[in-house]
Amino acid sequence: MKKQNKINKPNKKANTKALVLITAGIALLAAVFVLFVNNKSENQELANHPNIENQPTMGDENASVSLVEFGDYKCPSCKAWNEMIYPRLKADFIDTGKLKFTYINVLFHGEESALGAAAGEAVYKQDPDEYWKFHKQLFNEQPKELHDDLWITPDKVAEVSKEYAPKINQDMFKNDISSKEIAQEVEKDANLVKEFEVKQTPSIIINGTMLEDPFNYEEISRLINEQL
Ligand code: CA
Repeated sequence: MKKQNKINKPNKKANTKALVLITAGIALLAAVFVLFVNNKSENQELANHPNIENQPTMGDENASVSLVEFGDYKCPSCKAWNEMIYPRLKADFIDTGKLKFTYINVLFHGEESALGAAAGEAVYKQDPDEYWKFHKQLFNEQPKELHDDLWITPDKVAEVSKEYAPKINQDMFKNDISSKEIAQEVEKDANLVKEFEVKQTPSIIINGTMLEDPFNYEEISRLINEQL
């Protein structure tokens, strides 16, 4: 009996140890499962919404709602959107910390679109804070009539950047516009245009939902408030 006891005791200890290990294993598996499910839902959100990493974004970076404008400096509707809708959006949602706003370039109007996009990227590279002043002014520079005439030129983007992003180095700006690095940024935007099947400018996506009418401010407000 004594011998048996001696043998049984270590067995009991081993059993307890095994039980603890199994419990710990189950807890670990549960934790991994929870992490997996969380990651999956985050990725699903990203799948419906453009990746805004390294894209010009204004507003509180922790805002729960993200609005992306796909725009083109050469496009008259984008000028109108930036004059009519953007100021309301800024006052109601961006300045109040509810919304972050991102701009992505679309090249639907040839070389002038491409130059405007490259100039924007080049300003953003040197001075992300002043980028928005340049961006706003380039839309202001678009002629109200005869917008199809040539107006986005190397001289024009240099002039606007000198005045609205005065801290940037102009030599670097000029080199950047025709650099591979900036071309890659413009291409990154063009790839998002394809991925999200952008057919018109401006196109507006709010937390993964593409708006049918980008000028319908009531719908924009409703969608943002729904996501808050
Ligand atoms: Ca970009």
